[in-house]
Amino acid sequence: MKRIDLKKIVEWLGFILKCPICGYKYNLEKTKVLESDQDEVLNEARILIHSDCQKCKSSVMFNVEIRGPEVFSVGMVTDLTGNDSSKFMGKGPITSNEIINIHKALKNFKGDFVSALAVKK
Ligand SMILES: [Zn+2]
Repeated sequence: MKRIDLKKIVEWLGFILKCPICGYKYNLEKTKVLESDQDEVLNEARILIHSDCQKCKSSVMFNVEIRGPEVFSVGMVTDLTGNDSSKFMGKGPITSNEIINIHKALKNFKGDFVSALAVKK
């Protein structure tokens, strides 16, 4: 298989896909490829795409897999913006210790957000 032009796939998705929340047609400027890999020997490609709806501001991530003549696509509504997706993509899952620390912090929290969020000097 020749290398797939990711730009063409995004253009194709932008042409056929509509927002699952409000039905508005996706804008290519708000659609970006987060991750992709291609295997020319196995004739396969996988692309992870994020798109923001300009009308209702919801976000959707699409996983597109191309295996020879077959194309599989799974879409998922997300509350992550395009920037959030890029930011958290390289991060690992939340650890047990992080959950325990948040639990301890919330247990001692008295509702004073100004003190909690103030810059420590
Ligand atoms: Zn929408």
